[in-house]
Amino acid sequence: RIVYINGEYVPESEAKVSIFDRGFLFSDAVYEVTAVLDGKLIDNAGHLARLERSCAELELTLPVSGDQLTEIQRELIKRNGLTEGGIYLQLSRGNAGDRDFAFPENTAPTLVLFSQARALIDCPKAAKGMKVISIPDIRWKRRDIKTVGLLAPCLAKQAALAAGASDAWLIEEGYVTEGSSNNAYIVTEQGKIITRPLSNDILHGITRASLLQLAEDAQLEVEERNFTIEEAYAAKEAFVSSATTFVWPVIEIDGQAIGEGKPGPIAQKLREIYIKVAQAAAV
Ligand code: PMP
Repeated sequence: RIVYINGEYVPESEAKVSIFDRGFLFSDAVYEVTAVLDGKLIDNAGHLARLERSCAELELTLPVSGDQLTEIQRELIKRNGLTEGGIYLQLSRGNAGDRDFAFPENTAPTLVLFSQARALIDCPKAAKGMKVISIPDIRWKRRDIKTVGLLAPCLAKQAALAAGASDAWLIEEGYVTEGSSNNAYIVTEQGKIITRPLSNDILHGITRASLLQLAEDAQLEVEERNFTIEEAYAAKEAFVSSATTFVWPVIEIDGQAIGEGKPGPIAQKLREIYIKVAQAAAV
């Protein structure tokens, strides 16, 4: 694989980051993942806008413009012959030369991007749905900032796998916040889509924003409010969204079948519409 690091395209084995990089020492870094379909970027403007917001919240300065980032993303797609998968982008505060909590002055940030080939349209979890477990949300309180401090989601994912499920829904004060790496939704008996409102408690999903707009366009009812895991057990449908999953149905939570225990029509419809619209708008 050819990867990008600080202005250069190099084979992945030649891309090196200092042990004093603050991304490595403190998770002092932000990231984005943009899906690629037919060799084109999906919803990329949203991802770059969120990257800028994450940077602003942490006083991180992007060394290149949004347009330049898009050029780098496209170059990686080209050099790696990527047709389907994702582009990972990470910006850290850079190499501080030593370990010190305070932000260093005049440190150049570390910017890396790499591609990941993966089948996004034809995948078993989209077709069959997935099982999730619920566990306490032990993350920090600024989940709206997309930092690489992802140990809690890694633990959540491992706990899910150990329990024979494939992901976890995180619970705080009795309510579902989101999935370990996706936004969470349920559908009521009346067909209303429920998802938690935006706040510092969850990541403001780019796919979420697109989906809610598409749902509205398709005259599906949406309500942004907190919901409990008990409400999810009793829901007609459940699903998750993220850049590289688009929409995946959830068919079981904590061993309880959701609805008929198979992918529901609203999740399937939203997935279909999202892929169609996103593909048409891809750049
Ligand atoms: N929530 C969390 C915690 C995530 O990690 C992600 C994916 N990065 C999402 C939601 C979904 O966001 P997006 O649709 O922008 O990928």
